[in-house]
Formats: sequence, C-alpha cells, structure tokens
Amino acid sequence: MRNLIRFSEEENDSQICGTCTSCCRWDGEVLFAPQELDALADLLHMDVRDCAEKFFELSDDRRNLRLRMGKGDPCPFLSEKGCTIYKARPDQCRNFPYVWVREEAKLMEECKLFKEILKRNNLTLQDLQK
Ligand code: SF4
Ligand code: SF4
Repeated sequence: MRNLIRFSEEENDSQICGTCTSCCRWDGEVLFAPQELDALADLLHMDVRDCAEKFFELSDDRRNLRLRMGKGDPCPFLSEKGCTIYKARPDQCRNFPYVWVREEAKLMEECKLFKEILKRNNLTLQDLQK
C-alpha cells in the first residue's frame, strides 16, 4: 500500500479531477468505517440505524460497512453532478488515490489525479514498480 504526498489543499484534487468520476464507477467496494456512518446519516437527515439498514451490509472481514450495490454498478451516491455525499464521503474516497493498492499501470491510464500526484512526488510509473 502506498501513501503518496498530498496536494496542500483538497481543492486542488477537485480541480484536477474536474468532471471525471471514473473511480466512483470502477468495480469494487465502497467501505465506510462504523464511525463514518454518523456523518452520512446526519447529511441525509436519517436515523443512523435506518441509514445503515438502507444502504449497507457488513464487509467480508466484518469490520466495516460496505455500500450495497450490484456487480458492475456505480456507487449509489454518484449522480450526474458527482458525489451526492461529498462532505460525508468515507476515508476510502478521501484518500483515493494517495493510499491505494490498485495496479499503478491501470491508474496511470484511468486517473488524471494519480498522474499529477506522481509528478508532485517526482516519481515515474517505473519507480513505483521497482
Ligand atoms: S461515496 Fe462519493 S466519492 Fe465515494 S465512490 Fe461514492 S460517489 Fe464516489
Ligand atoms: S481520482 Fe482519478 S479517477 Fe477519480 S475522479 Fe479524480 S481523476 Fe478521476
């Protein structure tokens, strides 16, 4: 797992991502730590238990909550305008792609922000693959 140097302002990430929402549509799971549920329930004006039951199931390791979504479906909180729960999105999304285990070559192809982060870290794809 890598932890690359961040841009100083989160704003910069949004500017670089622009209208790309590719990572919200990739196969995989969106995990919330149990303590992240309160912020989401609050944002959605829902009772925490109702929110958990409506949107989540237990992750395989039973430590986190996984958003319920069909195979190949985008994140259920993605709209045409982007993430509808941006302020309450989980660390998994906040940390993407700074802390990630996805294949770097694929990230290079699909993620503009990852390319910028490598530039900022003075790294090339080859450096990461050493
Ligand atoms: S919670 Fe928001 S940022 Fe995270 S995958 Fe879903 S739409 Fe994307
Ligand atoms: S992190 Fe990468 S894949 Fe996700 S929205 Fe930004 S540029 Fe697109």
